[in-house]
Amino acid sequence: MRVDYDVVIVGLGPAGASLAYMLKDSGLRVAGVEMGDFSKIWGKPCGDAIGAGNFDKNGLPHPSGDALKQVVRGALIYSPSEEGVLRLTGGEGYMIDRNKYGISLLREASRGVDLLLETKVSYPIIESGKLVGVKARGEKGELELRAKVIVDATGSAASVRKKLPPEWPVSVDAPETDFSVAFRKIVELDYEIEEPEFIRIYFNVNVAPGGYWWFFPKGKSLANIGVGVQLGRGYESPAKIYREVLMKRPDVGREARVISEAGARLPTRRPLVSMVWDNFIAIGDSAYTVDPVHGGGMGYAMTAARSAADAIVAAFEEGDFSARGLWRANMVYMRGLGAVQASLDLLRMFLQTLTNDEIEWAIRKGLVGKEEIVSVFERGEFSLTRHFLDALEMVVRFLGKPSLLTKLLRANDYMRKIKELYLQYPEGPAGLARWSSQVEALVAEYKKVMEIPF
Ligand SMILES: Cc1cc2nc3c(=O)[nH]c(=O)nc-3n(C[C@H](O)[C@H](O)[C@H](O)COP(=O)(O)OP(=O)(O)OC[C@H]3O[C@@H](n4cnc5c(N)ncnc54)[C@H](O)[C@@H]3O)c2cc1C
Repeated sequence: MRVDYDVVIVGLGPAGASLAYMLKDSGLRVAGVEMGDFSKIWGKPCGDAIGAGNFDKNGLPHPSGDALKQVVRGALIYSPSEEGVLRLTGGEGYMIDRNKYGISLLREASRGVDLLLETKVSYPIIESGKLVGVKARGEKGELELRAKVIVDATGSAASVRKKLPPEWPVSVDAPETDFSVAFRKIVELDYEIEEPEFIRIYFNVNVAPGGYWWFFPKGKSLANIGVGVQLGRGYESPAKIYREVLMKRPDVGREARVISEAGARLPTRRPLVSMVWDNFIAIGDSAYTVDPVHGGGMGYAMTAARSAADAIVAAFEEGDFSARGLWRANMVYMRGLGAVQASLDLLRMFLQTLTNDEIEWAIRKGLVGKEEIVSVFERGEFSLTRHFLDALEMVVRFLGKPSLLTKLLRANDYMRKIKELYLQYPEGPAGLARWSSQVEALVAEYKKVMEIPF
């Protein structure tokens, strides 16, 4: 059966459901297609933590009622020995029930969007070199969903994007080492968690190489506990690490009940070189819109959805659904959060080369304090060299590890350079190839200078 829409959103996870919610009052004929049923909505395994700022910024409702499990007041960052702890307070966040929040968004969205659940998209339909729809199969059998704009929000699977013509810049794939794989359990513990309003992050390359492990309370006796490692480097699987290392810890192993356990891969790199092409937009994990350092992708997916929603509405006003007509999504995302994300991608690579000894030292000495961490996640830059006295103090603080200071300053320099490049993201598709090769050259130079082996 053939059905015609203005917009078809494939995948209704954080990216697709947010976009559906944002388009519900647009007056456009929008379909949201999801292979899972309501019980599987937002079912990808996740740490379930999200910054509160993401909701107002993107015009989405804050989680409440059953969807809100715990308000987060801060984070504790542990050194490998766990004797060094950074206590970060100030920002607010939430531990959510993803399924409940996702369903609440979709119920609202369904006022203006057709939801096709239990419907799996298999292929893009390309006619005379133009993307005109997708093939899907669901309750009603084979479907041909046609639209002027197709959005791939299928997460890491990138079910539509990866099947687009290889000469389209959106279809490129990233190297395996730019991804992580993570495993998490949601468990009821047989003891009461102290300070459940603090999420805990543990850095230890012997446990979580190229990543970290976490303990995120969801109330007094419930927690989301998981571990993530870099892919493509032959590291142990996180499910095995959880079983063989974390379960031996009294704070993790004292399970009263396991509510859910699962793992998945996630991109931890800079965004796709372009989120849009003719009649096409990718958002969320499909477009690699994820924080490369901590792997948080829900807020990034919402921001990408906001850029896409505004670009779609503008494209329909102008009647132009080409890459040029949808380019606004790129301009807004890449010059905003994308620039921070690119900078954090370089930081991610640097962090993945550190030894336990260096991490221990940095956390214990408080070398990177609250101010630097806030600055790096909000602006993609450390506030390292504001004036001479600060710089001098920095040198004194690093006296035990001068080479680490040199590396950090060098990394910060490149982080600033790549951010500047993203702030000059081309104004149209014509400038993309040149810009993209400048980014690739800068990243290659960074890897060489910083001796990054992947
Ligand atoms: C273990 C782990 C812990 C994480 N912790 C956090 C965290 O604490 N905070 C945070 O913000 N982020 C976290 N992330 C990242 C976060 O989960 C993702 O970035 C986020 O879910 C991406 O949303 P998305 O909508 O792009 O993709 P997804 O959540 O993967 O949703 C994609 C949707 O598309 C559907 N779909 C796929 N293919 C098709 C198809 N062919 N047809 C129809 N439907 C299809 C899927 O069923 C799914 O519903 C974590 C990730 C992992 C793996």
